Amino acid sequence: MLNSKDLATFRKRLLCWFRRFQRDLPWRRTKDPYRIWLSEIMLQQTRVAAAIPYYERFLQRFPDVRMLATAPQEEVLRWWAGLGYYTRARNLQKAAQEIVADYGGEFPTRWKDALALPGIGNYTAAAILSMAFGEKHAVLDGNVARVLARLGAIRGDLRESQRWQELQKTADGLLEPKYPGDWNQAVMELGATVCTPRSPQCLLCPVAQYCKGRRLGIAESIPEKRIKYTTVEVTLAAAVFVDGKGQTILYPPPKRTKEKASADHVPTLVSNMWHFPTLSVTAEPAGYLMAFLRRHTPGVQNRKWQLVPAGKVRHTVTYRAITVLPFLINVQKLPLITGAKQVPLRDISSLPVSNLTRKVARAALAAQLSFPPGAESNPFAPPPFRGALQVLR
Ligand code: SF4
Repeated sequence: MLNSKDLATFRKRLLCWFRRFQRDLPWRRTKDPYRIWLSEIMLQQTRVAAAIPYYERFLQRFPDVRMLATAPQEEVLRWWAGLGYYTRARNLQKAAQEIVADYGGEFPTRWKDALALPGIGNYTAAAILSMAFGEKHAVLDGNVARVLARLGAIRGDLRESQRWQELQKTADGLLEPKYPGDWNQAVMELGATVCTPRSPQCLLCPVAQYCKGRRLGIAESIPEKRIKYTTVEVTLAAAVFVDGKGQTILYPPPKRTKEKASADHVPTLVSNMWHFPTLSVTAEPAGYLMAFLRRHTPGVQNRKWQLVPAGKVRHTVTYRAITVLPFLINVQKLPLITGAKQVPLRDISSLPVSNLTRKVARAALAAQLSFPPGAESNPFAPPPFRGALQVLR
């Protein structure tokens, strides 16, 4: 791509720019592989600004790999709650356990050992090994690929296997061997702050003179748009029971099974976390929800429950646009459901729950505030929780 003289200048310009203008991020102030690893996992599907408070809180609770390895999984998930994509947290802990068991608590420095850990692919292994140990591995993710493709005016689907391999070769060839960690971060920083997806700021770019995409005037059209999945609309109905003490019921994370999920189960949509009794509906949500509760709650046939609609909650998971219709059910005594747990509605985060479940709880609490349970119609209803909406955040 560049002759050796240009390559040296290219590297120098980008590194100098990075050292001068890089953002001050908590994981850039350390060489601790555990901290770098944690940041890389959190940043996989989360923006930097959103990840920072989670990163700092998580490290306060699990300051090193041993603390993480020995913690109950439920607690790890609870401290991850809100970041989404919980498989990341599960794999993080599994990898921590392997690191303690097989490497005496030290992150492995060999490429193949790092790559064998759960949740660690080529990109993450290259990032950790280069930044923590100065190993010569070039990172390549969507962000870096976009920068490289613009520099070389590479068209087409960048994720196509052959093209991706060529981009990896380009990344390897550009890597500054003396400072691989800084180099990788410099390329990523360029992609995150200057060579951004929608409108690259070429006038501020330290390597603009080497950019073929800019010269040809095609930088903004690289990468080409990928084929998008059609959005699938999903409607769920959720039951939010509340007893006189403000307690509610949550179902446990669904067990993973190879068998096709039954119509009553919506495990992936509730993130394999604790959740309200929920089912997928097409029409008459209250009727279907009541029938669902009858099937799952012993003795319910004899009870008269009033299902109070609590608005709508919208949520998006990949290509699914989910609408949840929460129903508030005030009861004197919570029904007994095998495996379910009782928790305060205003503090459901005492169990690992997803953002979606939190949104449903907020909607139910809001409904309770605007629909004060009538003393005559519902003598067992709890008083409204003032300030509860803040508690759930
Ligand atoms: S010149 Fe523009 S398109 Fe090229 S790398 Fe720099 S910011 Fe990206």
